[in-house]
Amino acid sequence: MLVAGNWKMHGDRAGHGALLSALKAAAPWSAEVSVCVPAPYLGDVAAALQGSDIAWGGQDCSSHVAGAFTGEIAAAMLAEFGCRHVIVGHSERRTLHGESDSLVAEKAQRALDAGLVPIVCVGETLAERDDGTTEEVVTRQLGAVIDALGTRIAEVVVAYEPVWAIGTGRTATPAQAQSVHALLRATLLRASVDAAGVRILYGGSVKADNAAQLFAQSDIDGGLVGGASLNAADFAAICQAAA
Ligand code: PEP
Repeated sequence: MLVAGNWKMHGDRAGHGALLSALKAAAPWSAEVSVCVPAPYLGDVAAALQGSDIAWGGQDCSSHVAGAFTGEIAAAMLAEFGCRHVIVGHSERRTLHGESDSLVAEKAQRALDAGLVPIVCVGETLAERDDGTTEEVVTRQLGAVIDALGTRIAEVVVAYEPVWAIGTGRTATPAQAQSVHALLRATLLRASVDAAGVRILYGGSVKADNAAQLFAQSDIDGGLVGGASLNAADFAAICQAAA
């Protein structure tokens, strides 16, 4: 099991320090735990978490290796700050920054090349779910990454995040999530037998009181947690539920 927190663009130095102190006091858990933090704080976070049971990561990386790309962050830069993970293809990046399936796939490739584990997000919008195209959408999104990575798909983490459940308080039911996770598992296995071990996280309003039921599903291997990762007690309870 893996539980990854996505802090998004929240907080400040003092708040992050307090959050990490409380999390370190609550650790360890039997699940692997990581926090994906705003890039300017990576140095602070690395210093705070070095030697602890909590890993850290970035929230995005460039599809380029290096060069004149103002504002972008290379995967190798994240690696230099000790990141283990980097989120790629979060729905906020796809929607607000127009990221395409192929761009997300390139980012996943750059992450692997830099020695990071990409957490590749896929998920349908509410309109797509209502239209009955959920399976087509997530298969297309994951398929682009499989096409780019080939058998290296076995090295990624996938996060199924229905867009309508992110930050809305509306969680997919365990059965709804499990059915998409099973499809993603089958898609991964068709791509590579080694992909049997790929972890598929659920994300979308995971809270302390719904995490255990979600994590009990056979193809749910942990969670990608936004809002609740900003509260130490809530995030610790979710990590505990992944035991
Ligand atoms: C996310 O941002 O990846 C997420 C799942 O957010 P939340 O848990 O707040 O829905």
